[in-house]
Amino acid sequence: MLALYFHIKQLRESEVDREAGQKMHSLRQSFVSHNGIYYAAGVLAGLAPLKLELHSRSLKVIHRKGWPSMYNGKGSVLPAPPRTLAKEEYAKEVDKSLRKKWQHLYDKRRSDWSRKMVPKGTAKPAMEVNIFTGQALTGHGCFRAYRHKIGKLPSAECASCEQMDETAEHALVECPRFKTGRLKELNLENMETCRYIKRIVKDLWIAENGPKSIREPLRK
Ligand SMILES: [Zn+2]
Repeated sequence: MLALYFHIKQLRESEVDREAGQKMHSLRQSFVSHNGIYYAAGVLAGLAPLKLELHSRSLKVIHRKGWPSMYNGKGSVLPAPPRTLAKEEYAKEVDKSLRKKWQHLYDKRRSDWSRKMVPKGTAKPAMEVNIFTGQALTGHGCFRAYRHKIGKLPSAECASCEQMDETAEHALVECPRFKTGRLKELNLENMETCRYIKRIVKDLWIAENGPKSIREPLRK
């Protein structure tokens, strides 16, 4: 959480990424510093992991100013393109390797639940991330498995299925209670997925917290 907070804080203070930083800020309450979720949060906000962002910016500045580079050796976060390239070409090459590395890091988290819903490191969600899609992605909030984990419920068991914990994955992928309109694959780049998730999570949330717990624009 702390790492994510500083990431967001730094980005919010930067003019260049102000908009992206604000998107991250809006996600803050839904996400914790679990790696998979952290990456998914970055993807949804259109931001690469901070380490890559900072390194790519350093490379560009060093090249533009003609400073000697300390980043050409092995073990560098991103490979430095040839210094003889023109400014724009150089920046393009840096961005290209940033995207490649970002996708590679993201791919390593294939088994994460959040990764199933955001399959590509360069994904753009079809709908603005809100408290519903955010909860589905993190598995936090209204799901009984989470509520049990934080001591709010005596059992994590699904209300319909015996011996099954109601995780986000169970509710959205398996549970017969929510099979109406269920999609074969959940992908936040797909509007149908966003609508399905919003409907299910909203129902679960209202069942637990009452309709007044959701602000007016999100109730529809
Ligand atoms: Zn169930």
